[in-house]
Amino acid sequence: MRIIDHVISGHVGDGGRTSDVFDPNGGTAQAQVRLGTQADLDVAMAAALAAQPAWAATNPQRRARVMFAFKTLVEQNMDELAHLLSSEHGKVIADSKGDIQRGLEVIEFACGIPHVLKGEYTQGAGPGIDVYSMRQPLGVVAGITPFNFPAMIPMWMFGVAIACGNAFILKPSERDPSVPVRLAELMREAGLPDGVLQVVHGDKEMVDAILDHPEIRAVSFVGSSDIAHYVYRRGVEAGKRVQAMGGAKNHGIVMPDADLDQVVNDLAGAAFGSAGERCMALPVVVPVGEATAIALREKLIPAIDALRVGVSTDADAHYGPVVTAAHKAKIESYIQMGVDEGAELVVDGRGFSLQGHEQGFFVGPTLFDRVTPQMRSYQEEIFGPVLQMVRADSFEDALRLPSDHQYGNGVAIFTRNGHAAREFAARVNVGMVGINVPIPVPVAYHTFGGWKRSAFGDTNQHGMEGVKFFTKVKTVTQRWPDGGATGDSAFVIPTMG
Ligand code: NAD
Repeated sequence: MRIIDHVISGHVGDGGRTSDVFDPNGGTAQAQVRLGTQADLDVAMAAALAAQPAWAATNPQRRARVMFAFKTLVEQNMDELAHLLSSEHGKVIADSKGDIQRGLEVIEFACGIPHVLKGEYTQGAGPGIDVYSMRQPLGVVAGITPFNFPAMIPMWMFGVAIACGNAFILKPSERDPSVPVRLAELMREAGLPDGVLQVVHGDKEMVDAILDHPEIRAVSFVGSSDIAHYVYRRGVEAGKRVQAMGGAKNHGIVMPDADLDQVVNDLAGAAFGSAGERCMALPVVVPVGEATAIALREKLIPAIDALRVGVSTDADAHYGPVVTAAHKAKIESYIQMGVDEGAELVVDGRGFSLQGHEQGFFVGPTLFDRVTPQMRSYQEEIFGPVLQMVRADSFEDALRLPSDHQYGNGVAIFTRNGHAAREFAARVNVGMVGINVPIPVPVAYHTFGGWKRSAFGDTNQHGMEGVKFFTKVKTVTQRWPDGGATGDSAFVIPTMG
């Protein structure tokens, strides 16, 4: 069987553990990925430490040129990358292209790195004294990424980190590791020196080796919340800078004055697109008022019935299979939990079978009504094509739901009332808000990050927050001798009065 190897500059052993990489459309293992060890990481670290100083000393416009070249190469290889991504993840080809494109937008941001790395300067902060600051790279940094965006999320991290002058070690998801490998190869082809970007595969053993490694200065993580919290704690304990993004349960609030046809259109894509395997999916819809709930439900059912589930390469399919058999079983167990908890199962996606692909990991679209905040199936992330309707009596009730939820990644409100939208955006206890926008993923030059258990740490991904995360500030206070020294020593804290 095909082996997916690390991208490490130096020799690593070829024995050791491996993990199956599945074809979610066919339901069979198609390759095996190596699960690396501390020893593999040590080889990568030696190369990274050797390469990083020269890369940091390369002037920023030259570093940016590598990003420009990489962007062109990814665009040239878009079809191949999208097919590879879909073949391991299961999302449809158009969606895979979106995954790659959203990552490329961070690379475009990184092309402007000479501008954003400029420091601050104050002339004459005191008599003959100037103060300036500079942003310097941290050294060797690492990223640990989830399965659901195998192109975008690695690029969120390495695009900014490498442009800032760091060397980067990427530990992608072991479930769909091939696109990260190709991206590293394309960076090399774009002119990135050996050792500046390496890919180490693995599971908890490799993650722990990264978290404990004394020479890795920062770790950026995206994945589920319990693991994000663990990574945050262990990394901080080892003295590192850590940002760790976690799970989500995003709500869409539907006000009585919303354009319901638009809402249903938006919800179909946001709840079921990518089989619901998006941290910015909208798996909870909250109609405000009984009449809104009735009208929304009436329009939602035919829209869900019209959804087409198919193989990733089917251009007419709205979404494909989920990533693994284990994930499919988990989603179906949440559907059963919802039934057991007393929610009304309106559309049941269990037992879905696609002719000719009976072993594929498909889950049909599922709709629950009369879900309540007390239900565990509401409180936890399902990460599948399951939409839960929670009815609210008033704007205040609706506002409370996402605000009180353990997750606070994204939220959306659908309304024609500017005042209600403004009030909602100001008061909701969630990090990213959409107003009549179902998936409010900020563009690359803004920053991405949720609140509460959706993110541990204090800087967001990409944009200026990403630059801050991957650099440290040095501030210089300078005075040049002018021959007028008084010989007096100051024994109080110096001021510039
Ligand atoms: P996951 O937590 O299972 O895996 C994420 C990474 O952690 C992988 O690289 C994996 O190898 C590693 N890992 C897995 N188990 C580990 C363990 N016990 N110890 C240490 N490391 C371990 O997440 P996933 O299933 O790949 O991705 C889906 C999750 O990611 C969802 O919860 C989703 O909401 C979340 N997500 C969040 C964001 C965000 O920005 N907030 C974005 C995308 C995905």
